[in-house]
Amino acid sequence: MFGLQPQDLLIIVIVALLIFGPSKLPEIGKALGKTIREFQTGIKEATQGFSEEAKTDTAKTEAPPACKSCGKPLTAGAKFCVACGAAQT
Ligand SMILES: [Zn+2]
Repeated sequence: MFGLQPQDLLIIVIVALLIFGPSKLPEIGKALGKTIREFQTGIKEATQGFSEEAKTDTAKTEAPPACKSCGKPLTAGAKFCVACGAAQT
């Protein structure tokens, strides 16, 4: 993922220093910190959204049909059980 290593942050700070000059650094640092925090919050929310979606999908998926006579699993829409031959209504 976009893991920020400490040395990457150092490079960003140095580049920012060169571009904006030391006077603007506190401002930039604040903006950068805010951006990273919001970014992480966004990822967390997205991840939670995905897992909730997955959970809902699992709940929606119906259990495969089982034979009313012997309880063996049936293929969806099968009219007769392949194990015992009982008609499924
Ligand atoms: Zn059966």
